[in-house]
Amino acid sequence: MTPPLPLDPDPQALEAMMADLTRRVGQYVASLPGQPAQGAVEWQTVAERLREPIPMTASDPAPIYDFLLQEVVPCSFNTAGPGYLAYVPGGGLLSACAAEFLAAAVNRFTGLWAPAPAAVELETQVLRWLAEMMGMPAGTLGVFTSGGSMSSLLAVFAAREKKLGGDLAGARAYVSTEVHHCLPKALRLAGFPPDAIVRIPAGPDFRMPVDALRARIAADRAAGLRPFLVCGTAGTVNTGAVDPLAALADVAEAEGLWFHVDGAYGAPFRIVPALRAVFDGLERADSLVLDPHKGFFLPYGTGVLLVRDLGALRDAHGSLGAYLPPPPEGEEHLDFAALTPELSRDWRGLRLWLPFKLHGVAAFRDALAERRRLAVILADALRGRPGLVFAHEPELSLLAFRRCHPGVPEAEENRRNQELLARINAPRRVMITGTTIDGTFWLRLCVLHLRTDEARVREGLGIIAAALAET
Ligand SMILES: *Cc1c(COP(=O)(O)O)cnc(C)c1O
Repeated sequence: MTPPLPLDPDPQALEAMMADLTRRVGQYVASLPGQPAQGAVEWQTVAERLREPIPMTASDPAPIYDFLLQEVVPCSFNTAGPGYLAYVPGGGLLSACAAEFLAAAVNRFTGLWAPAPAAVELETQVLRWLAEMMGMPAGTLGVFTSGGSMSSLLAVFAAREKKLGGDLAGARAYVSTEVHHCLPKALRLAGFPPDAIVRIPAGPDFRMPVDALRARIAADRAAGLRPFLVCGTAGTVNTGAVDPLAALADVAEAEGLWFHVDGAYGAPFRIVPALRAVFDGLERADSLVLDPHKGFFLPYGTGVLLVRDLGALRDAHGSLGAYLPPPPEGEEHLDFAALTPELSRDWRGLRLWLPFKLHGVAAFRDALAERRRLAVILADALRGRPGLVFAHEPELSLLAFRRCHPGVPEAEENRRNQELLARINAPRRVMITGTTIDGTFWLRLCVLHLRTDEARVREGLGIIAAALAET
């Protein structure tokens, strides 16, 4: 056995360790196109091997890396590979991995401004860039979180603080039935009872029907209730629908409501000029959720919340301990710990700052435009196939479709569509998922992975065509 790795290796030992790991990761990434889109589920053997005694002594690194990359990692949906068209794909951008390594190694404390002002200013600047990309006004700031769900929770905290103060009685928040479940979850966590969440049934186009929203708000006001928040989604998980954001912004403005936009899937597409109009009204959001671990291709663990009135978010979190350094002077120097439940945190913003600098944002814009182009190729090839219907034309890069069987009862039709899904996924070259809306089962695919290319999309089309012919 090689001598055990010291807890604090010298530069040579570090370099050797990282060279070995980098080589293995490089080989892994190069092998992704040949890997199955979802692993065989033989997790029991791996789980058994993991249930070992506490490892009190050092181990050789090579077998450990082999175990990780050859057994633990493959037992999964292949969320880093080109065939992953399931849910809303994430990324695994390698320059962001480099940022993560650097940030962890320098281990700066970014929960507060004073201990690392420049690192915090760097992160703040990424937030300004994102706000500008989203067309939001100067002064819009926010915080990096672990993901869209956490960002949504913070948005609800801010809206509650600003619009209701401490009194939640009779409060009403309006979402469409197509909202992501993290919004109702956030409202619940923020202390709202179930009847505070008003789910407006989505229209036949799976968007929030604004007239129904207006009518419901008026009825609730007449009943003495207190509407305070309306949520629009810029790209739903089910069908990729973008709510009528400008109309929702009008309603929010007229009614004095907090306007929240969930852009966890769709918002990054706003930087593609040809798609900008789809997002008309998004720039008027009081709070906007972005998920860089989806549309900016980062590894999981990076979400963003942008808020127009940072004071609302700060007020929602109260004051910090007297043993901490004093808060910075000036609105734009941020103590992130004053904006979230977290104190200690990693230097998250670097994961986006470094890739933006190294590749240039134009590279992200082009990569997003390409994901859109690939989704359009899929839609064009599938449109008009006998019996096949779309939920609606894809607005971004998500397509929901199903096969109709006229005269067949819905339950049987659903079963056949589930069978169709299983056939499409069986060769494990692409992985797509399904969803049920109002009792109807839909297949859905989302092109968002950086590694999904035209060759894989065309191969997927062949697989879908064959499955359609058999079902
Ligand atoms: C993914 C997603 C979320 C939740 O974000 P997480 O990062 O998974 O917590 C919320 N809304 C939409 C539209 C999403 O696609």
